[in-house]
Amino acid sequence: MKLEKRFREIIKKMKAYRYALSLIGWDSNTEAPRNTFKRRSKMTAYLSKELFKLQTSKEYQDIVYNLYDKYDELDDLLQREIKKAKRNLEKIINIPEEEFLEYTKLINDSQIIWEDAKANNDFESFKDNLEKIVKYNKKFALYYDKLANPYDTLLEDFEEGMTTKEYDFFFESLKHDLVPFVKEILKKTNNNYEELRSANFPKTGQKQFSEYLLEVFDFNKKSGLIKESVHPFTWNTSPEDVRFTTKYMENYIFSSIYSTIHELGHATYEQQISTSYNDTLLNGGTSMGIHESQSRFYENNIGRSLAFWETHFDKFKEIFPEQVKNYKPIDMFKASNNVEASLIRIEADELTYPLHIMVRYDIERMLFNNEIEVKDLPKVWNDKIEEYLSVRPKNDTEGVLQDVHWSSGMLGYFPTYALGSAYSAQIYYQMKKELDIEKLIKTNKINEINKWLKDKLHKYGSSKTPKELMELITKEKFNPKYYIRYLKEKYSKIYN
Ligand SMILES: [Zn+2]
Repeated sequence: MKLEKRFREIIKKMKAYRYALSLIGWDSNTEAPRNTFKRRSKMTAYLSKELFKLQTSKEYQDIVYNLYDKYDELDDLLQREIKKAKRNLEKIINIPEEEFLEYTKLINDSQIIWEDAKANNDFESFKDNLEKIVKYNKKFALYYDKLANPYDTLLEDFEEGMTTKEYDFFFESLKHDLVPFVKEILKKTNNNYEELRSANFPKTGQKQFSEYLLEVFDFNKKSGLIKESVHPFTWNTSPEDVRFTTKYMENYIFSSIYSTIHELGHATYEQQISTSYNDTLLNGGTSMGIHESQSRFYENNIGRSLAFWETHFDKFKEIFPEQVKNYKPIDMFKASNNVEASLIRIEADELTYPLHIMVRYDIERMLFNNEIEVKDLPKVWNDKIEEYLSVRPKNDTEGVLQDVHWSSGMLGYFPTYALGSAYSAQIYYQMKKELDIEKLIKTNKINEINKWLKDKLHKYGSSKTPKELMELITKEKFNPKYYIRYLKEKYSKIYN
C-alpha cells in the first residue's frame, strides 16, 4: 500500500510538470508572439529536465519494478498502469545518455534541413540526416527488445498490439480489394465541382459556420474552445480542458469544415473520458489508431454524409447565399466526396487516402528489413505511388519529401492513420445495428451518437487496449473487410 501511495504521488508530480509544459505548448502553437521563442525554450528546457529526472529517478524505478513483481496482487487498473509505466521507463533508461542527447540534437537539426530540402526539391541534402534517424531508431528499438524485429517495436509504440504480422494482413487486403476498385473509380467523372470547390468563401462566414458546427456536434464549450493554426490539431490536459484548432482557406471551403469536424471527433473523445483517470497513466485516448477512428468517424461517416448536408445546407446557404445559389445538398455531398489521384497525402480524399499510407508502410517495412536503403527512397516512392494511383510525382517535394514525420523521428506512425479509418468503419456497422444514424443526423441529435460512443468507448480512456475496445464494441476482432465494404458501398453509390 505504501508503494502504491508513493507511486501515485510521483505520478501526480509528473502530471503537474506535463500540465505546465502542455499549456506552454498550446500557447506557442496558437497565440504566443514570435519573440517569445528564445525565453520559452529556456524555460521549457528546465521544466523538461526536471520531468526527465523524476521519470528516471532511482526511487521511481524501484517503485515500478517492485509493484511489477507483485503484479498478480494488483487490481486490474493498477496492473495496466504498471505495465505502461514499465514500458515507458524501459523505452528511456536502456538508451545510453550520450546517444539519447545526440539523437535529440539530430531531430532538432533535421527539422530545418527537411524544410529546406522540401522547399528546394533537394533530397540529397536531407539524405544523411534521414539515414542517421533510421539507424538510431533501429538501435533504440533493439535496446528495448533485442529479440524483436525493430520495426515491430516501433509499430507497437504507436498502436498497442499491432505488429507487421497484423499490418501485413491489413494492407494486403487493401492491395487486393481496394486498389482495383480505386482505379475503376478514377476513370469515372463526378462532374468534379471544381467551381464550388475553389469558389471564394470569406473567412468571417467560415468562422460563423465553424461555430455553428460546434453546436451541431454538441461540443462542451465550458470545457473547451476552438482557435486557428496552420496545421489543425487537438490538445488536452484532461476532459475538462480540451482545445482544438482549424484552418480557414478562402478558396477552399471544405478545408475548414472538415478540419473542424475532424478535430471535433478527437476533442469529443477526450471530453467524454471518465475524469476518474485524471491522476493516473490511464487518462487520454488509448492509442493513435483509436483516436483517429473517432476523428474520421465524425468527419467522414457523419460530416461527409448526404444526411448531414440535407440537414445543414440551409444554414450554410444563409451564410453564403451567393456562393451556393446554384447548388443543392446533393451537390455539397458529391463535391465533398470528390475522388482524385492526388500526389499529396494531406489533400487526399477518403477513398485514395489509405493507398498513400500503404506507400509509406511498404517503404518503412523495406527499410527496416534492409531491402532498400535511404538513397533509394525517391525512386521507390515514385514507383509505389504510380503502382497504386497511376500518377507519378514530378519531383521529390510532391513525393518523398512531403511529410514532416520521418524528419521528426516518427517511424511506424503512418499505419495508424489507415488503421483508424478501418476501425471507424467496423464501429460504424455496429452502431448502425443499434442506432438509426441517418435519422439522428437529420433530426439534429448527434448528441445521441456522442452518448453511444461515450458508453462503448470514450469513457474508458486508456484503461483498455485498442484490441479489447474493438472486441467490446463490435463483439468481434478487428477485421479490415468492414472498411473495404464501407468504401465500396459509399463510392459505388456516388459514382454509380
Ligand atoms: Zn486526426
